[in-house]
Amino acid sequence: MTATEQLARATRQPLIRVENIHRTFGEIPVLRGVDLDVAEGEVAVVIGPSGSGKTTLIRMINALETIDSGRITVDGTVIQDATNGRHRMNAKAVRLARLELGMVFQRFNLFPHLTALENVMMPPVRVRKVPKDEARERALRLLTRMGLADRVDNRPHELSGGQQQRVAIARALAMEPKAMLFDEATSALDPELVGEVLKVMRDLAESGMTMIIVTHEMRFAAQVADRVIVMDQGRILEQGTPEVIFNRPSHARTEEFLRAVI
Ligand code: ADP
Repeated sequence: MTATEQLARATRQPLIRVENIHRTFGEIPVLRGVDLDVAEGEVAVVIGPSGSGKTTLIRMINALETIDSGRITVDGTVIQDATNGRHRMNAKAVRLARLELGMVFQRFNLFPHLTALENVMMPPVRVRKVPKDEARERALRLLTRMGLADRVDNRPHELSGGQQQRVAIARALAMEPKAMLFDEATSALDPELVGEVLKVMRDLAESGMTMIIVTHEMRFAAQVADRVIVMDQGRILEQGTPEVIFNRPSHARTEEFLRAVI
């Protein structure tokens, strides 16, 4: 990124803003004061030990999980607000946010009775009222970009896990989101299928898409991240460029975690 681009990014409001989020499940404090701003065009990769709150955090941004205190804003619209003791979640704002955020889950959640093409076409037709011909064109373009041009007429059960996940990514992109959230998108895949999904995620990152990625793939994180965020016990332990986090982390716990997973 050039200095001018860096300055432009720094002066714009963040696309996603998470302010002082807390959340307790039963007795367990799962998030304990998390702040996170993600700028347009930024690729933020969240890493950390299992149970540190990564998935919960990313689900909150899409309003799939509520917060006990704090505030979440997407593209200037407050999605959830619990800053003064009362939780407010505006249904219209949530709908808007979900349109602006494409989410990819560990499990692909495709419609089993629809072909790959129909899975990708459907949401824009139903939700955004995009004309069918246009949606079909867009879906074909996206599936081709995902390396699935010869698979458009297959149903999910006829596709490998890696192919299904690429259809799921195409489906999220078909809604033309402003940002994409990935929650351990490769964790459910057989090892030999992980690479093909990481490749399309890498291409997407290089295309300038704003992304928050929760992953255990450290080499991938080092390649695509503008910023690596290390979570531990419901907090952001530290964050920085991949170069800093992977080579010169500030915290012994980060070192410990990285030693265990790399
Ligand atoms: P990570 O993604 O870092 O592995 P999670 O956000 O999935 O962490 O989970 C953090 C903690 O919250 C874990 O201890 C998990 O068991 C707990 N947790 C997550 N979701 C729920 C839920 N819906 N109800 C109760 N506990 C939950």
